[in-house]
Amino acid sequence: MDLSTIIHKTAADLRVAPNFSDYEAERHGFSWDAIRRTLGAQPDGGLNIAWQAVDRHVESGAGDKVAFRFLSRGGPAARAVTYAQLASLTNRFCNVLRELGVGKGDRIFILAGRIPELYTALLGGLKNGCVVSPLFSAFGPEPIATRLNLGKGSVLVTTDQLFMRKVAAWRDRMPSLKHILLVAEDGGSTAIPGTLDLAAMMRSATDACQITPTTSEDMALLHFTSGTTGTPKGAVHVHGAALTHWATGRYALDLHADDIYWCTADPGWVTGTSYGAIAPLLHGITSIVDLEEFDAQRWYGILHDEGVTVWYTAPTAIRMLMKAGTEAARVRAFRRLRFIASVGEPLNPEAVWWGKNVLGLPIHDNWWQTETGGIMIANTPAFDIKPGSMGRPLPGVDAAIVRRNEDGRAELIDSPGTEGELALRSGWPSMFRAYLNEEARYRKCFAHEWYLTGDLARRDTDGYYWFVGRTDDVIKSSGHLIGPFEVESALMEHPAVAEAGVIGKPDPVAGEVVKAFVSLNKGFEPSEALRLELLGHGRSRLGASVAPKDIAFLAELPRTRSGKIMRRLLKARELGLPEGDTSTLETGS
Ligand code: ATP
Ligand code: MG
Repeated sequence: MDLSTIIHKTAADLRVAPNFSDYEAERHGFSWDAIRRTLGAQPDGGLNIAWQAVDRHVESGAGDKVAFRFLSRGGPAARAVTYAQLASLTNRFCNVLRELGVGKGDRIFILAGRIPELYTALLGGLKNGCVVSPLFSAFGPEPIATRLNLGKGSVLVTTDQLFMRKVAAWRDRMPSLKHILLVAEDGGSTAIPGTLDLAAMMRSATDACQITPTTSEDMALLHFTSGTTGTPKGAVHVHGAALTHWATGRYALDLHADDIYWCTADPGWVTGTSYGAIAPLLHGITSIVDLEEFDAQRWYGILHDEGVTVWYTAPTAIRMLMKAGTEAARVRAFRRLRFIASVGEPLNPEAVWWGKNVLGLPIHDNWWQTETGGIMIANTPAFDIKPGSMGRPLPGVDAAIVRRNEDGRAELIDSPGTEGELALRSGWPSMFRAYLNEEARYRKCFAHEWYLTGDLARRDTDGYYWFVGRTDDVIKSSGHLIGPFEVESALMEHPAVAEAGVIGKPDPVAGEVVKAFVSLNKGFEPSEALRLELLGHGRSRLGASVAPKDIAFLAELPRTRSGKIMRRLLKARELGLPEGDTSTLETGS
């Protein structure tokens, strides 16, 4: 089958009428002011993410609707939290902070698994005008301390066990930290010297609260990038980001009022906060939150048992499901599921078709970054999917392919099909406002009105964008520019290949040659015969100048904890160079 065949949408594919169906008209009629009006005015005239996400629904009479269903293995059945309960909990948390003298602009870090308190602290902190930074709970002590110190965190919300394992010994090295609020993992209370018991403080706090006035330009969130290409950067986001979260929830995730929505990302990464908490709450819908990590059977069980309708996940998870085999998927029917989207890495055409063939729905790839704060380019329900493409810029987003000139200007490349750097016209509401403590680096991302993303892409004649690679990862071989994604996708079409990571290896003649690292699907073993077969497959699919010259087998590819293949590590290891910052490397622990 030709994997590049366009997937046309039929009414059966869509299952419900999408939020929009005429892409051009929607772009044309779009304005951020109109989105702001749709969200509605706040009583204090300002804009606060938490008020818009939580209190707005209670005031409009939807307080009894379930906001979150928290799932945990072996624990009690799902714990449901309604919008009214969430309003009360976040008010209490806001009052706990005030009791401690924590105020507007103060920085709160959260280090916890996906427990209810994480969401309470996130939203309650925003109500108090604080800047909130959720950290990934699997980080070790050093990455935690580095980020907390960089962000000058004055409050840390964590669990008793995580505190003892990861923070206690480093406490003295976090001079800005004034208060540590602990959640007892056994559900009881904690009494660790130098810390506070959050449950007790929540009990004695009142749930009446006037939120601290904030404007759309007040700083709200601090997110660290994934560290795929180097040391993670701290991206600063403002309350106005809510406009992007709402609009993209409507366009790219097609959220409808009665959806049961599941975003599998952890709030320690921008996706888990923007789309695992804020966007679905802004739409007043019910989200599933699972405390456990990936497990194919468990995930299929959740999709089925919880009646998930919209599912937002990542290529790495999809590839793991593919690796687990189609039988695992086919034992259940996902009758309520109607829309699947993916972000984080390029989604190989193979994976888009796997969705269509195995789950009965194509997977909608979308593209964005920690810096953009929300989805920018997406496959939406409103147009056909070209497998392998990231889709088209959403209404409200202007994208372009540019070349950086020597004088730092961005020259637009108009001709379709030409590769260049992906750029976005600055000014969308969730655009990052700074890299924390790195003013010069921030400024370098902009050329006049364009934000330069650091990703290479091309646009086709229909206005679809195709990811080529990171500017750092592109391979220059005998005068050709080769994007790793194209090579990886071709290798993945071979039945033996589960995942592929491609790098450029220095070569005296060609400048660089393509080397691929692959992990294999169940039922295949590494062998010289298979290596030769894959080299041949690459040559026939890609041509000799682009195909890998060498292929090595790895049991697993190195990836970030947010699930991205770390090509820089493959390269460093291949060349015997230092590995650099590995704070976000997934270690299988
Ligand atoms: P760092 O900036 O620290 O190196 P990172 O760029 O991986 O890490 P994120 O902001 O989490 O950190 O990831 C954004 C990047 O992920 C994008 O710039 C792009 O390279 C990649 N990406 C995200 N979605 C897609 C997609 N749909 N297709 C291709 N690449 C994607
Ligand atoms: Mg990046």
